[in-house]
Amino acid sequence: MTEMLHASCHCGKVRIAVPASAAGVLACHCGDCQKMHGNFNAFLAAPRSDMQVTGEDALVWYQSSEASRRAFCGTCGSRVTKEITAAGRWLISAGLVDGPTGRRIIKNLWEQSKPDWYDLPAIET
Ligand SMILES: [Zn+2]
Ligand SMILES: [Zn+2]
Repeated sequence: MTEMLHASCHCGKVRIAVPASAAGVLACHCGDCQKMHGNFNAFLAAPRSDMQVTGEDALVWYQSSEASRRAFCGTCGSRVTKEITAAGRWLISAGLVDGPTGRRIIKNLWEQSKPDWYDLPAIET
């Protein structure tokens, strides 16, 4: 049996079991993530088919680019996931994981788009 991390939105309607094999934590500093998350987006990435999603009908989707769409909980507004549609991958917001992840940020993405009010998270090698 695959070991899972458990993620949930603020109100608990949306619950996602994320495989422990998911990549990340990854930190994306792109302009889209800044607008949509209010700051950089830290996430875990895995195939959607490897996740178990409860309360998926509570998700409200927004087509944020041609290749991807993003979902938030329609009740509490938690930003839940970004879907890379063609690849079938979901990027789950790291802040939704309940309890310790045992992980660190392993990679920064779009560093060149970072705003001027914070330093890039340090990457542990
Ligand atoms: Zn919610
Ligand atoms: Zn981004």
